[in-house]
Amino acid sequence: MLVVKKFGGTSVANKERIFNVARRCIEDYKKGNDVVVVLSAMGKYTDELIEMAQDIAPRPPKREMDMLFTIGEQMSVALMAMALNSLGVPAISLNAFQVTMHTTSAYGNARLKRIDTDRLNRELEDGKIVVVTGFQGINKYDDYTTLGRGGSDTTAVALAAALRADACEIYTDVDGVYTADPRLVPTAKKLKEITYEEMLDLSTLGAGVLHNRSVEMAKKYGVTLVVRSSMNEVEGTVVKEDVEVERMLVSGVALDKKADRIAVIGLKDEPGIAFKVFDCLAKKNINVDVILQSIGREGTKDISFTIDDGDIEEAMAVLKANKARLSFQRLECETKIAKLSIVGAGMMSNPGVAAKMFETLYNANININMISTSEIRITVLIQESDGERAIQAVHDAFGLAE
Ligand code: ADP
Ligand code: ASP
Ligand code: MG
Repeated sequence: MLVVKKFGGTSVANKERIFNVARRCIEDYKKGNDVVVVLSAMGKYTDELIEMAQDIAPRPPKREMDMLFTIGEQMSVALMAMALNSLGVPAISLNAFQVTMHTTSAYGNARLKRIDTDRLNRELEDGKIVVVTGFQGINKYDDYTTLGRGGSDTTAVALAAALRADACEIYTDVDGVYTADPRLVPTAKKLKEITYEEMLDLSTLGAGVLHNRSVEMAKKYGVTLVVRSSMNEVEGTVVKEDVEVERMLVSGVALDKKADRIAVIGLKDEPGIAFKVFDCLAKKNINVDVILQSIGREGTKDISFTIDDGDIEEAMAVLKANKARLSFQRLECETKIAKLSIVGAGMMSNPGVAAKMFETLYNANININMISTSEIRITVLIQESDGERAIQAVHDAFGLAE
């Protein structure tokens, strides 16, 4: 059996935890399994690297950021291979170049395109545990790229798919996927299983427990994921195509405080305007989320949308630069907002879900700015300061509390 095991930053934050992970990998190895380990940078090292960079230059070039980021994961894998060796098990660390993991060229937000498996297979055949850097890749210019924050999960799933692994285990600092972030909602419950679709929505909408691309990729290649704790033996959460238990109305609630809102006011009310607005953002690789267009009045209309807070400066700049072409009157930007979402496959056939969510927020005296829905999701935009109160209230209103 071939097992891919991914450990996040907290799980390798110090010497004791590195040895804890090493022992868990050796357990698998001793059962006769081939073991590939994917690691993140130790603790909050990636954040420390960002601070270091910003101390030198407030807006460092993305290429150089990726060059810097990659040392975090490289440090973890080298130390892990040393720990495994010191415990008497042959191991080797490999970075994205050595594997090779090919990505698109977008620094800071690259997508994995292809992973060469020759070297990995050779090392496994040699009887080694192979410890691979998460989060990083290389592009067509032979430069390092990174997959976006939290991207090591995606490296693990991609490796599991490329190597046709029998299991892909994501070890983290919580016991599995909960009905809400257990740090925000103390009454949150651990889920036994969740579908790819639900998990994809939750992770896209703020549940940082899995990188959303990792779920996308798991669904595409049919990789069953297990999310569990690296600190105990508690059974985790299985993420797969279909769940066996009856589908709950709402499986989870997520809060995304990183959303910002831009309103483009007084656009001409004519065909092609929405296209022009979003086209200039798309050309800068800026992802747009909840979109609201007002009804046209006196020949003008407004368009508001949310984007990730990391993109706000660039988005405002590109819109301002295109003011004449888009012919709007003014731009407004709001950063103190949050996105609250409920997700559940059971919602599809239940009309009262939205009303119940809105009623709960009304009872908590929380104002809704924007609403967006899909078959299995309802998202509302609220004030950031209401976020924690809102997620707790909605979570409990749908009977998710322990
Ligand atoms: P790692 O470093 O292991 O990748 P992350 O910090 O990326 O860990 O993800 C784990 C964290 O995700 C948890 O500590 C938890 O606070 C957060 N989280 C957010 N939403 C959820 C959820 N629905 N279930 C579990 N954890 C969640
Ligand atoms: N070290 C990277 C980050 O902090 C990647 C990861 O943890 O998955 O975002
Ligand atoms: Mg993570």
